Amino acid sequence: MSQGPGTRDIDLDAIVCKYCQSDNVIKYGKLKGVQRYFCKDCKRKFANPDAIPKMQTSIRDVADALNMYYEGMSLAEIRRNFIQQDNNYITPTSPYNWVRRFTRLAVDEAAKCKPAVDSIWVADETVIDLDGKNVWLWDLIDSKTRFLLRPLACRP
Ligand SMILES: [Zn+2]
Repeated sequence: MSQGPGTRDIDLDAIVCKYCQSDNVIKYGKLKGVQRYFCKDCKRKFANPDAIPKMQTSIRDVADALNMYYEGMSLAEIRRNFIQQDNNYITPTSPYNWVRRFTRLAVDEAAKCKPAVDSIWVADETVIDLDGKNVWLWDLIDSKTRFLLRPLACRP
């Protein structure tokens, strides 16, 4: 996949820490022929960088963090939420690392899918009262697949 400028710094092939998903990771010698790594962020060593370890971070936690982020919570709020709700003391950099890593993955996955849209599109109009002014929101939806083609907002 071609990458535009500004996305270069995100390299998913880079080794990421299995504990905090940071890519601030250096090689740390070999043990019995297996490459070991050291994470400069959480100061932990690990041998197998793929996989989120089950006991450390569940997929569910990562999904929750991403949901909170896209609902508008700040990274600090997300961490506070984990601590207050679940007594889960995730590292300060974890939410950022998850968002960065998994958003990139999601964008790449979505880019592989070409919408197989039909020729009939439905314009769906919603009027929202915003401080006493009506704002029209238009969703252009493919009639067959309900694929959202283009959300538009118009002010009269
Ligand atoms: Zn780490």
